[in-house]
Amino acid sequence: MIRGTTRLLGVIGDPVSHSLSPVMHNAAIAHLGVDYVYLPLPVKADQLHTALEGFAAIGLRGFNITIPHKQHIMPLLTEISEAAQAIGAVNTVWHTEAGWSGTNTDVDGFKAPLAALDRDWSSTPALVLGNGGAARAVVVACAQLGVPSIQVVGRSLDKLVAFKQSWENSFVEPLMTVHHWDALEQLLPSARLIVNTTPVGMAHDASASPLSPDLTALMSPEAIAYDLIYTPRPTRFLKEAAEQGAIAIDGLEMLVQQGAAALKIWLRQDVPVDIMRDSLLSQMASPKT
Ligand code: NAP
Repeated sequence: MIRGTTRLLGVIGDPVSHSLSPVMHNAAIAHLGVDYVYLPLPVKADQLHTALEGFAAIGLRGFNITIPHKQHIMPLLTEISEAAQAIGAVNTVWHTEAGWSGTNTDVDGFKAPLAALDRDWSSTPALVLGNGGAARAVVVACAQLGVPSIQVVGRSLDKLVAFKQSWENSFVEPLMTVHHWDALEQLLPSARLIVNTTPVGMAHDASASPLSPDLTALMSPEAIAYDLIYTPRPTRFLKEAAEQGAIAIDGLEMLVQQGAAALKIWLRQDVPVDIMRDSLLSQMASPKT
């Protein structure tokens, strides 16, 4: 119930209407019985500074950030976590006496389903398909896990070079090499953690896969195939990887766990991860517009 004392949380972006975050956060808030509500907050790029001043003025506790603000918000924050600085993007912000603090919970979200596996990460070379925003969190997570190498594959050499350069002097740099898509034939057989961070295979294009059948056949049955996409579940990439004997992980748990990590920061208490996951699953099964 919304009362005179109810505090605000939310997600900013442009657009935000597609976001599943309000569903999972409000389900957790209702389950915990805490006096909060989580709202979609559409904010245009040129209104970010004004929006932050307004949020401070009305005592908003914290918010998530989606496209296009994840990088642009950084100069407006008084404190940024090491993980968010390494990634170069913030997805969770909370208010402190000093101002706004930010972090990126995608790294912990990505690692959560991997923690359940009994793996020696020091003998699990990683191969990352794509070099956009989400790939940055994946690369940091892989380095934190302790993988021996991170090979990043993309379709634009210019963007790959810029991606590589952006990690100079960081703990990721010694582990990472970048390659054009054409190198996959050589790279796939030895990869043991293969992560799709491209949007190829999403619901509107569900028959597509980032890997052709010939390339999928090169995947080791000892590999873990991880797709950040969460609709459909599974993607064609994951279905074919599982047929090859690989362990398949979709993006739903990452979505749930990055949200749970954010809610924990705002509420400063444990949060009901199962309730958050169930709310997403039921929303995805029968979307209510
Ligand atoms: P992004 O910044 O736009 O990056 C997308 C990357 O995929 C770019 O490197 C892009 O290459 C590449 N790409 C796009 N289309 C391609 C194609 N047809 N063939 C080969 N490469 C292609 O997007 P993002 O924010 O990283 O998100 C990527 C995916 O991760 C989305 O599906 C998103 O929903 C998902 N995601 C999931 C979670 C989660 O919690 N599960 C979190 C974040 C993101 P170019 O730069 O050359 O275009």
